[in-house]
Amino acid sequence: MTWYILGAGSLGSLWAARLARAGQPVRLLLRDRQRLDAYRARGGITLVEDGRESLYPIPAETADQSGPIRRLLLASKAYDAETAAASVAARLQPGAELVLLQNGLGSQQAVARHLPRARCLYASSTEGAFRDGDFRVVFAGKGQTWLGDERQGPAPAWLEELHAAGIPVEWSTDILERLWRKLAMNCAINPLTVLHQCRNGELAGHAEEVSALCDELGKLLHACGYPQAAEQLHGEVERVIAATAANFSSMYQDVAQERRTEIAYLLGHACREGERLGLPLGRLHALHGRLREYLRQRGLPDA
Ligand code: NAP
Repeated sequence: MTWYILGAGSLGSLWAARLARAGQPVRLLLRDRQRLDAYRARGGITLVEDGRESLYPIPAETADQSGPIRRLLLASKAYDAETAAASVAARLQPGAELVLLQNGLGSQQAVARHLPRARCLYASSTEGAFRDGDFRVVFAGKGQTWLGDERQGPAPAWLEELHAAGIPVEWSTDILERLWRKLAMNCAINPLTVLHQCRNGELAGHAEEVSALCDELGKLLHACGYPQAAEQLHGEVERVIAATAANFSSMYQDVAQERRTEIAYLLGHACREGERLGLPLGRLHALHGRLREYLRQRGLPDA
């Protein structure tokens, strides 16, 4: 069955190239005629892996075509996910399966609400990729992608096809817990690297701030029903800060390159959930306020 890939950015292109390389049917869905023309002018997706470049001439079309879709990878940023999903809604067959690659939380549930006849699986990935040109992707970090079903359905048989294509996926029976843990880690590190304009490692010099955030995030995870995700959160944050000391966080890089951040689906989502549950999360709210102000001052969206 054909994999449709909506969003030929970093992760979408990485998945598309590996599926195509394995001989699996794959089609890219691009937002409009202009993007399709630009793609055709490039002749395909270029994947740069271990310094070697390969061109994959994957068929592509605009999202507004009419062919039926039964399997879709939604590979946009979280803030584009609902609009992107809506652009193909009429093409989705009853029971169509979607993999939602978005980071953070909130966008997946919004897409699932709009597509009640589809099966929406959520993904959490530690793979790393970035674009070094239009329709060019550099595979920067090997990792793992967990897939799971909020409604607790069974693992799909096509996981084997992904393995065969060299895409390291694993089924998770509690994908929300995994996504919450990742969100909490992100909230404890990324906003501070933006506000202090620093690499991850320099947060060791802001230990009290990090520790207070972890304390509130732990309370939030407990209140949301994910006590296991709260376990050892502070220790894990400190380990990540040390292990990635020389790196700039993804949010730092987005701001440095004047790109919109996914703040609304990370720190924003944490604050909204805290409010909904009536939790006093003063440090997280203050951090959210400072980050939004920082983004506004730079002319970037604050949500
Ligand atoms: P990206 O490089 O910005 O790619 C997003 C793509 O979505 C762009 O190509 C964009 O098209 C496309 N798009 C948006 N709206 C669309 C629409 N309506 N129709 C068609 N295409 C549309 O983003 P990414 O880095 O792959 O990230 C995707 C998600 O994965 C994010 O939530 C991110 O946090 C998460 N993630 C990324 C990584 C990573 O290493 N990159 C790792 C883990 C998780 P245009 O090119 O036309 O703008």
